[in-house]
Amino acid sequence: MSEKLYEKDAYIKEFTAIVVDCLTIDNGFKIVLDKTAFFPEGGGQAGDKGTLNDANVFDTQIENDVVYHFTSQPINVGDTVECKIDFDRRFNFMQNHTGEHIVSGIAHKLFGVNNVGFHLGEELVTIDFDKELTREQLNQVEFLANQKVWQNLPVKAYYPSDEELKNTDYRSKKEIDGAVRLVKIKDTDICACCAPHVKTTGEIGLIKLLDTERMRGGIRIVLKCGMFALNDYKNKYENISQISSMLSAKQENSFEAVQKLDEKCALANQKTNELKKKIAELTIASANENTKYIFVDDCDIKDLQVMADKLHKTLGGIRAVFSGSDQNYSFAICGADADLQEFFNNFKSKFAVRGGGRGGMVQGTVIASQENIKNFF
Ligand SMILES: [Zn+2]
Repeated sequence: MSEKLYEKDAYIKEFTAIVVDCLTIDNGFKIVLDKTAFFPEGGGQAGDKGTLNDANVFDTQIENDVVYHFTSQPINVGDTVECKIDFDRRFNFMQNHTGEHIVSGIAHKLFGVNNVGFHLGEELVTIDFDKELTREQLNQVEFLANQKVWQNLPVKAYYPSDEELKNTDYRSKKEIDGAVRLVKIKDTDICACCAPHVKTTGEIGLIKLLDTERMRGGIRIVLKCGMFALNDYKNKYENISQISSMLSAKQENSFEAVQKLDEKCALANQKTNELKKKIAELTIASANENTKYIFVDDCDIKDLQVMADKLHKTLGGIRAVFSGSDQNYSFAICGADADLQEFFNNFKSKFAVRGGGRGGMVQGTVIASQENIKNFF
C-alpha cells in the first residue's frame, strides 16, 4: 500500500520518494514508491504522466491499493527518486473533472438525471446521463454551471465519519468498497470521488457542453472545461474567421452564407448535369455503325449505363462507353446478353477488370490505357 499524497493535496507537482518495488512487464517496468502524488487512473480520469528521475512515467494505475508507475526503464529498489508530474496535463484534468461534478450535480438537481459514466482523456471528455436532455435543458445547466464558476466556490475533498456519511445526501456512481471520499462543492454538489480537484471553482474557467449523442435511453455529452475549452474556442475561432472572410460574411452570419453557397453549388451541379446530358445526346447522335466505343468526360456509372443502352438500342451490336483517366476507367457495355458475356470474358482476360452484370448490360472499372482499349475493340 502506497501513501497517496494526491488525496490530501492535488497541487503537488514535485516530490521525493523511495522506490520499494520494480516489476518487469511486457512494455517496460512497474515502479512502486513509498508515497506518491501521481494520480492512478480511476473514477473516469486517466492516470498521471511525468518522470521519476529521468525515467519517463507513461501511465499510473492502482491495483489492490498499490500505485504502479509505468516506466520504460528500471529503477533500483531502495533508490531515492525525484518525482515530477506533468502538471499542466493534470491541471487540465482537474478543471474538467470538477467541471463535470458541477454539471452532473446541477443536471441531477434540476432534471433528476444520474451520471452513469464519465470519461476524461487527453482529447475527449464525456458525461453519460441515464435520461435524455433537450438542448434547452442543457443550455440551462451550462449557464448555471458557469455561474458557479463566477462565484468562485470552495471545493473540498474529505473522508467523512460513518455518522457524517449516513447523514449526507451525496451522488455516487456505484457502490464503493472501503472508505468513501466525498468531494463537496459549496451550494452545488456532493459526490463520492477518488480524484484530485481544483481548490475553488474559479480555477475551472469556462464550462462548455458540446455535441450530444443518444445512447441506451440516455444521453452522452461532450464536455470541455478550462484549457480544453479555450483550445476548442481558439480552433473554432480560426475556422469561423477563415470561413467568414472567404464568404465575405460577418462571423455570426457565416451559416447563412454557407447555406447560400450550398444552394448555388446545387444549382451549378444541376446545370452541369444538364450540359453533360446534352453532350452525351450529341455524341450519341453523331455515332454510326462503326462507333463501337465512346470515351466521355466526367460521367458516373449511371450516365455511362444510359449512354451505352441508348447506343445499343439505336445501333444494335455491342456498344461501350468509357469515362475516367488513363489506367483508371469506368465503363458500361451493352449488347445481346449471350454475345455480351462472351465479349466481356474476352475483355476481362486482356485487362484488370472489376465488375460484371447480366441482362444485356455489364459495368465496372478497368486498369488500361485508352490506346490499348481502342486496340482491343
Ligand atoms: Zn469525480
